[in-house]
Amino acid sequence: MTNTSCSTALFKDRELTAALDAIAEVGFPQAELNVREPHVYGADAQEQQRLINLFASHSVQARTMHAPSGRSILGTLDQEWHQESVDILAPHIRMAGNLGLTEVVIHPIPSRTLVPDDADPTLRQRMEDGIRRSLDALLPTIEEAGVRVTLENLPYPDYPLNNMGDLRSVIEPYPSASVGLILDFGHAGRVGRDPSDELRAAGERLCGTHMHDIEVGDDLVDHHSPALGYFDWAAIRRTFDEIGYQGPWTMEVSKTSREESLEELATEIAHWLAGWL
Ligand SMILES: [Zn+2]
Repeated sequence: MTNTSCSTALFKDRELTAALDAIAEVGFPQAELNVREPHVYGADAQEQQRLINLFASHSVQARTMHAPSGRSILGTLDQEWHQESVDILAPHIRMAGNLGLTEVVIHPIPSRTLVPDDADPTLRQRMEDGIRRSLDALLPTIEEAGVRVTLENLPYPDYPLNNMGDLRSVIEPYPSASVGLILDFGHAGRVGRDPSDELRAAGERLCGTHMHDIEVGDDLVDHHSPALGYFDWAAIRRTFDEIGYQGPWTMEVSKTSREESLEELATEIAHWLAGWL
C-alpha cells in the first residue's frame, strides 16, 4: 500500500486530525488533502505552519492536494476572473511545495452554471486560451514550489475539454515535470467515456488518479466504492500496466451505498484497493 492514498473528502464530517486518524486506521500511508473546511482554512502562513506541524506528528503523510475549485479554475473566460483564480491558486501551489507534496489537482474548466452561454461556438477556444493564460501565469510559481499541477476531467456531458484527449492536447507544450493530467473515473463514466480509453489518451502525461465508482439510479452518481463494480476494474488494471503508470493510487470515494458508516466504507475501499493492485 506504499503508493496508495485516500482523499480527506471521505471524512469531511470531522476535523483534519480525526480524518487522518481514520485514514491511518485502515492502512493508507498517504492522503490527498482536499482544500476545504473543516480540513484546510486557506493558505496563509499561519495555516501552512499548522499543517506542517500536524503532518510532522502524524503517521499519514500528505501526498497530493486538491486545490480549491468552484470559480478557482484555469479556463477562465475574462481577465478579472483570470486574476481572481490565479490569486487563489498560486498561494495553494506554494503551500503544496512547502508541505513537500508531489501534485496539486486543479479543475481546468468552469461548470455550466458559471458560463453565461454554454452553446457559444467559441466557448472551447475561449476555455483553451484561458487554460494557457493561467498556466503561463502560474508556471513560475509551480517551478519554484517544485510541484506538478494536474488537470482533472470534469463530469459535464456534451461540453468542451471534459476528457483526457482534449486536455492532453492543451497541456502538450508544457513541461511534464510541471504539468500533467489526473483521471477521475466517476467523471469519465458520467460523460460516457470508457476509463481504459481515457487512460490510453492520457498516456505518459497521467500523473494522478481519482478512483471511485458510479451507482446507477435515476442518475449516474459518482464517488461511490469501486466494490460496486460498475466499471470493469480488471480491464482498467491491465490498461494501467499497458501505459506504465507510476503515480499514486488515490481513492476519492465520499458516498456510502448501503447505509454503512464512513469507517466501514474506508475499510471496504482499503481492502478493495489492496486486492485490485
Ligand atoms: Zn476528482
